[in-house]
Amino acid sequence: MASSSAGVTRSGVKKYAQKYCKEWEYDPNLKDWICPDPTGENYARCKYCKVTLVPHKKELNYHAKSKKHIKAVSLDKAAKSCQQLSFIKTVSKRITKLRN
Ligand SMILES: [Zn+2]
Repeated sequence: MASSSAGVTRSGVKKYAQKYCKEWEYDPNLKDWICPDPTGENYARCKYCKVTLVPHKKELNYHAKSKKHIKAVSLDKAAKSCQQLSFIKTVSKRITKLRN
């Protein structure tokens, strides 16, 4: 009774479908910034960095840890907390434009 593993060797090189996955929007590492790319469901997009990403969990986690991304997120948070200030800045810019 030793005839074993005949069918088992159809081994699992399962190609992952490279598609955006709704589940990622519940992943604590990804949910704050991920959204489907407007060009189609085959890509993911970072709201903060405004970049299109390959829809691979590994890639996405890598992006989440990248310096560029962390910076973009903190800048955005800072911008939100002082929106009034940036409003004043844009207004004063306009004024200087008018003066020139
Ligand atoms: Zn990002």
